[in-house]
Amino acid sequence: MIEITINRERCVRCLECVDVCPTGVIVAKDNEPFVENPDKCIGCLSCSYVCRADAITHKGVYIEKKLVYDPKLEERIKKFV
Ligand code: SF4
Ligand code: SF4
Repeated sequence: MIEITINRERCVRCLECVDVCPTGVIVAKDNEPFVENPDKCIGCLSCSYVCRADAITHKGVYIEKKLVYDPKLEERIKKFV
């Protein structure tokens, strides 16, 4: 199972993770992001990629190399899993 954690001390409340999540896992409440539906996470890591504060971490997500074509992007994503 995927575990998603948002570090409240690092988060700058930009809510970009909410906008980018394709399955509605992260939702905004009172201008803060919350992980509401972790079972719907498809492990795309888009939320971590757009997070300027490096505030989102995932456990249980494994990178599918065939889906990552940019080596720099792959390196950046690796630090989130
Ligand atoms: S993208 Fe990062 S900094 Fe912005 S709201 Fe989400 S967790 Fe917070
Ligand atoms: S990894 Fe993808 S599906 Fe999962 S919470 Fe982040 S943006 Fe949403």
